[in-house]
This record gives sequence, structure tokens and C-alpha cells, in this order.
Amino acid sequence: MKLDSIPITLTRCAKTFRGARVLEPLDLAIGAGETLVLLGPSGCGKTTTLRLIAGLESPDAGGSVYFGDDDVTALPIERRKVGMVFQNYALFPNLTVRENIGYGLKIQKVPTHTARERVDELLSMMRLETHADKNIGQLSGGQRQRVALARALAPRPRVLLLDEPLTALDARLRDALRSDMNALLRELGVTTVYVTHDQAEAMELGDRIVVMSAGRIEQIGTPRDIYYRPASRAVAQFVGTLNRLAGQWQDGLLRTTGGAVPAAAPHMAGASELYFRPEDATLADPATAHLRGVIGRTTFLGERTRLTIEGATHDALVIDVAGRVELAPGTPVGLSIAADALIALA
Ligand code: ATP
Repeated sequence: MKLDSIPITLTRCAKTFRGARVLEPLDLAIGAGETLVLLGPSGCGKTTTLRLIAGLESPDAGGSVYFGDDDVTALPIERRKVGMVFQNYALFPNLTVRENIGYGLKIQKVPTHTARERVDELLSMMRLETHADKNIGQLSGGQRQRVALARALAPRPRVLLLDEPLTALDARLRDALRSDMNALLRELGVTTVYVTHDQAEAMELGDRIVVMSAGRIEQIGTPRDIYYRPASRAVAQFVGTLNRLAGQWQDGLLRTTGGAVPAAAPHMAGASELYFRPEDATLADPATAHLRGVIGRTTFLGERTRLTIEGATHDALVIDVAGRVELAPGTPVGLSIAADALIALA
């Protein structure tokens, strides 16, 4: 199934509830067919942004929402042709799976024959054929979520809006459904806005990620941009684990308590702090490594081992190594960091 795709544009969209500003004026351009993920901690304004796009909230005066060239700011949700899925499914408990999926088509008075065909297509797409006549209460959480998605898609929406659709599911199921969701969104080609506070979901599903904090956009970028080129400390600390290298700059080297790291690019020399990800450092011969320290804790995580290293710089460092590494606490080690893995934050 392929849906039409249109761009969405928000201009100067702010939101105030009873005198409290929960969303600062924001501009956002979402490409036709793009999956844009809104990521951030609880209360940062993700759902409010999604509800502005849906037409469940109006922006404060001066804000506008466009679907393609249509100004939809004043249109209520039922006239925007959006499909929406919530964390708690919001299915009709007294209707069957088939009736739930067909609900929107009935409201739109789609002819019975066409509606049946479309519901059948969605039942098969979502692997729900054998559940078509069951009541919602007879389904598992994952199945309910697939019904909710099918119901949102049946009227062929112009825009798909998903608010934490996998959050209520247990971790194993969530991982499996995440890759199903990815395949589905690629197939549909519909412009999608996806709210989550889970970074793995954001990384896997987002063409671009918007990191929000306290009612503002901190950064918009591809998953790689957000991870490797975070725009601020808030973004860097919210996404993944980060090590801080603190020291004094001298001749293009950041000198720390346990060695020296060369600046990868001229702009880095002078940055107050450098950071790197746990997987971007390797154990090396202490004689030639950038940094020297001793093993603190080792945590075996199956496919990798997480080590803490003390004495290399002011803070203990966390690094991830693949393979069978067994090092006793106190073992001296060297550490080298790939030059292009250093992140400079002001
Ligand atoms: P969560 O993941 O917890 O849903 P969120 O990032 O989606 O968080 P929002 O739901 O957009 O955040 O809420 C942003 C802020 O706006 C919160 O402080 C919330 O309490 C407040 N808020 C949201 N809706 C209303 C409302 N109808 N009336 C008053 N305050 C509201």
C-alpha cells in the first residue's frame, strides 16, 4: 500500500496553556514522505507539537500549520485527513477488529464493497486475518497496536501521526515491532511524525530527529548528526553515553592527567571540553597510547564489555570493547581515541 505524501510546515507555532508557555515559537519543515521523530524527555512539548499538527490544539495567535500549500491552521482534526495512533491504542472495545479498522471508512461513507476490500488489504498487511472477527479484548498488546495502525491507515490519510505507539509494550515486543514499523513506513511513503522518548526508536525510524527540551528545539538532524555532531550538551547527554575529556591545551594537544589527545581539527584546540562515545576508544599499548589509566569496573554485556577507566582524565571514562576481554580492576591500560570521533562542545 502506497499513500500520497505532502510536506508539512509549521511557522511560529507556540502554545500557552492558562498563561503558561509550554511551547516556544517554533518553525519546522517536514519533507514529503519523511519520517520525522520528535525526541525528548517527558514534558518537553512533543505531544503538544503533534497535537498542533493533528488539529487537536490550535497554536497561539500568529502560528500557522500548512499541509502542502493548504493552510490548515483553522481546520479541525476531522477535516485534516490525518491518521493518528496513540500509546493507549484508543480502540473501540465493543467492536471487532474488522469493525475497528473499517470505522473511519463508515464515517466517510465509503461504499461497502470498497471498504471491505480496503479492510481486507489492511488485515493482510498487518497479519491480522485470523483475528478479523475477534473482539479487541481477545488480542495481545502487539496485535491491538497493529489494529490501531490499520484503523489509522484505512481512510488513506495525508499525514500519519504516532504518539509513543510502542511504549506500552514489553521490551522484546517493542524491538520486534520497531523493525516492522520501519518497513511499514518505508512502504507507505506517507509523511509521518513520530513522538517518542526512546532513542533507539528515534534512531531506527527517523529520517531526521528533532531533539526537544523545555518547549524548544535543541537540534534537528539525521540520526548520525544527532549522535556524532550534537549541537549542545543537552542533546549529547540525552542521546547515548558521553565521556568528557578535561585538561589544558598546549601545542594542539589537550593534556590530561593521564596523557594527551591531539585536536582533530583546528576549531577544537581551545574548546573548553572534548567528548567521545564509549565505542570510539580502543585499548592500546600504554607506551604509545594517547591516554593511560587503570581498569576500574568491568561489566560483561554479552556482545560487548563496558569498562570504566580511572586516572586518564578528571572523570572516570566509560569505554565499550567487543569480544572476550577480561581485565582485573587495577590493570594499567592505554587508550586511543579515533581523531574523527572527538566532539567539541562550547
Ligand atoms: P510526555 O512524553 O510526558 O507526554 P511531552 O514532551 O509530550 O511529554 P507535552 O505533553 O507536550 O510533553 O506537555 C508539555 C507541557 O505542557 C507539560 O508541562 C504539560 O503538563 C503541559 N500541558 C500539556 N497539555 C496541557 C493542557 N491541556 N493543559 C495544561 N497544560 C498542558
